[in-house]
Amino acid sequence: MSHLLLGGEVDAPAAVAPAPAELSQPQPALAADDTTAHCAIAIIGGGVAGLHTALRLAERFGPRLCLFEQDACLGGRVSDIPASDEQAAGPFVQLGARRIMEGQSVLTQLAEELGIPLQKPEMLEELGFTRGMYATNNDEFIRVFPGLDVDRSRGGYEIQLYEKLLRGPERRHVDDYPNLRAYAEKVIGAEGCAFLHGTYRFRADHEYDLSAKAYLDYLDEENDAGAICPSGHCQSLYPVGGMSAYTRGMEQRVRDLGCSCIWARPCSPSTNRPPATSSRRRGAPSPPARW
Ligand SMILES: Cc1cc2nc3c(=O)[nH]c(=O)nc-3n(C[C@H](O)[C@H](O)[C@H](O)COP(=O)(O)OP(=O)(O)OC[C@H]3O[C@@H](n4cnc5c(N)ncnc54)[C@H](O)[C@@H]3O)c2cc1C
Repeated sequence: MSHLLLGGEVDAPAAVAPAPAELSQPQPALAADDTTAHCAIAIIGGGVAGLHTALRLAERFGPRLCLFEQDACLGGRVSDIPASDEQAAGPFVQLGARRIMEGQSVLTQLAEELGIPLQKPEMLEELGFTRGMYATNNDEFIRVFPGLDVDRSRGGYEIQLYEKLLRGPERRHVDDYPNLRAYAEKVIGAEGCAFLHGTYRFRADHEYDLSAKAYLDYLDEENDAGAICPSGHCQSLYPVGGMSAYTRGMEQRVRDLGCSCIWARPCSPSTNRPPATSSRRRGAPSPPARW
């Protein structure tokens, strides 16, 4: 199968076929002119997805597997920086992803495989402020929303409102609404909308002009079947060393298996030959990783 042009045509072996013997022989990643990479498989993008793909394929295709990243480091939206210059080894401030959920078995198993301890957080309280009131539990805000149409004996007001949005009879007419706000106003009323906007962690959901149908479909998928939170209570887990412990660990494994990681070389399926200015000379040191 001809999949990609990277300064030359690249043949990608069929995914299910075993790796031919020659693929396990070390091959130069870059040709002499420094602009052509010879890869059996090219993975574009060194975020979590690209690294995980590389990790799984590296055992079979290691030396002929190339991972291309346009940025100066791998990780993509997983990006941690040390909290202070004096403590390069952490603790880290996480600029992107910071945690996983207990039911994300691919990630919990990967943590085990890479030797990454997962911590349960000390429960920290989040302080909210709305309608002149501070509280660390959203339900307490009910005091400043006297007209909120919820079952006050049950608590969990945010969940109650979302249940109405997701499971109420009006859902079948969701396509008739121009946006989420219009739908939400109909289903939970102006006070319900104000409660969610004032107290919900993802308040921007209630500011942007979102499609009501797409938003609710997305929530269905996100909440789907307790796959992410099998106990019903979503326990978040924090990898020691930050989420970049995953990307560091995967990069190390991928390199150990002989795969080439090539930075600062934007490429796309239509790229035949990257401009000379974008190529990094073979043997030149890699830009330092941010972690
Ligand atoms: C603020 C924030 C908080 C988040 N919190 C969490 C969380 O707590 N838990 C969680 O699970 N998820 C979280 N996420 C989501 C998670 O970070 C992303 O889903 C995940 O990192 C995406 O990985 P990816 O590999 O698909 O994409 P990306 O991380 O975007 O990686 C894509 C990579 O491809 C590179 N690239 C693109 N085009 C090219 C090209 N032509 N050539 C070479 N390289 C290219 C990019 O530079 C990038 O490095 C969060 C995201 C953000 C922004």
